[in-house]
Amino acid sequence: MEAYNPEHALLKARREFGEHGGVAPSISRSSTFTVMHPKTMPEIFAGLRGPEQGGCFLYSRHFNPTVDVLSRYLAAMEGTEAAICTASGMSAISCTILQICNSGDHIVASESIYGGTHALFESLLPQMNIRTTFVDITDLEAVKAAMTQQTKVIYTETMGNPTLKIADIPALAETAHQRDIKLVVDNTFSPLIFTPKILGADVVVYSLTKYINGASDLIAGAVCADKSFIQDLMDLHTGRIMLLGPTMDPRVAFDILQRIPHLPIRMREHSRRGQAMAQMLKQMDVKVCYPGLPEHPQHEKAQELGNDGYGLGGILTIDCGTREKAEELMDVLQNEESFGMIAVSLGYFDTLISCSGSSTSSEIKTEDQQKMGLSPGLLRIALGYTGDLETRMVQMKRGVQKVLTGVE
Ligand code: PLP
Repeated sequence: MEAYNPEHALLKARREFGEHGGVAPSISRSSTFTVMHPKTMPEIFAGLRGPEQGGCFLYSRHFNPTVDVLSRYLAAMEGTEAAICTASGMSAISCTILQICNSGDHIVASESIYGGTHALFESLLPQMNIRTTFVDITDLEAVKAAMTQQTKVIYTETMGNPTLKIADIPALAETAHQRDIKLVVDNTFSPLIFTPKILGADVVVYSLTKYINGASDLIAGAVCADKSFIQDLMDLHTGRIMLLGPTMDPRVAFDILQRIPHLPIRMREHSRRGQAMAQMLKQMDVKVCYPGLPEHPQHEKAQELGNDGYGLGGILTIDCGTREKAEELMDVLQNEESFGMIAVSLGYFDTLISCSGSSTSSEIKTEDQQKMGLSPGLLRIALGYTGDLETRMVQMKRGVQKVLTGVE
């Protein structure tokens, strides 16, 4: 297969000028849009006209011109026919699942996924009679064994939160397609690094809140898929995004649009630092997990599936053994070393550190955390790119020596 280059794909996207030829796109802030002829309105409601059929807009919960520009750029980057932006990553995920699954349906999901998604599957969807079986997504036999006649979706994150397990997207896609069901992939941790659609996924969901926006100043999401699936989500009478209403504000779309051009530069730098920091920690005999280390169980798979030139991301984990030790290290890294901030989330220009078991994965029961390999002392470190790398490595080394390895 010829290597996919998401940057070339982005360049091919239609360039959007702002009003008066502005180099930045315009922000179109109208909630509703005038139709020039009364007969046009019923045609829009019948799905015969829209942004791509005559440039026709109706109402901004349906389509907004500025949000539409962002959707087109994301579709280009992901190699999908279309995309739709949402108010958050969670709404992208929940609307996607509710579009595919009805009462009585079943999901096979990776056990190593963001805590909010885990809670959606484990606690909320069963109230709608949609059940999930959680599996180790790297165990293809376990995935197959969990499937039933009712299974409609295989759901995974490309790089699992927070265990950093890498899903074999082509193998999962083959398994899903043999049964004529969909593979839905959350690629939040690894934009540009992996392109799930090119690897066989049907639907790619994102929390744009993280790397794609990159400034930790807004919440946003997206669904990238075939035109027919995006049209289903936006159907005026039945579409889950249209009816549940998690609309993206055009000002948010504008902000993200202005940051996409430097996403490749940012991702390369996050990865460069991830690789260097992980190697240093390994040499210090710290229990570090990073897909770019040869010891990572899916290291070779990650290299095989990744796009050339973006590395393997800016997130690593350190198993400090206990939650107390993890908290001690966080304290030193933030309050003594100014290495990063104790905060959830990722993809920021500064480093964000959190203890997953008691924060973003706290929705997951303790025994399930253990099963998925999530230690209570696991620190997730989402490396930023401020300050020079050498200084950052010295700060990390001092912190680790003080708290974990006992040598100062
Ligand atoms: N997917 C992953 C992998 C995440 O880490 C998160 C949030 O941390 C989400 C989805 C949810 O995104 P949002 O907070 O934008 O709703």
